[in-house]
Amino acid sequence: MSHRGICLQSVPFERFAFRFTPEVVRILIPNDLVGVYLLFDQGEAVYVGRSDNCLRTRLANHPFVGQASYFTYEICHSRLRAFYLEAYWFHRLQEFAPQRLLNSIHPAKPANCSQTCPFCNSKNSKALKVAFSTLGILDKPFNF
Ligand SMILES: [Zn+2]
Repeated sequence: MSHRGICLQSVPFERFAFRFTPEVVRILIPNDLVGVYLLFDQGEAVYVGRSDNCLRTRLANHPFVGQASYFTYEICHSRLRAFYLEAYWFHRLQEFAPQRLLNSIHPAKPANCSQTCPFCNSKNSKALKVAFSTLGILDKPFNF
């Protein structure tokens, strides 16, 4: 079985991240979309977050505007998927770059959601890592 990992270090930073200013956020992201974002400082991911209502408003008014230099984002089709993606990145950053992570608490579940974070359970987490590796999403820990 071959593993096709994604190594972001070989991708020029500007290919997957954007300057973190309210103007750039407003140009790129339409209103009223659910989504997840990563903020970067000096080339390293430092914060993960999401919006269950309007990603554009959340990012354009984010308290780390002016502190973080770049951002990237993903639009999600459901609040649950956004929660899972945010939780996934939170655990990844906590595991591999805890010294830079500015998130102080685990991502909250969406309102009226009974699902729990699948990555908090170590058995689920190992199974998901195997599944992601098989799909070529993960191969090894990577740095930004
Ligand atoms: Zn968790």
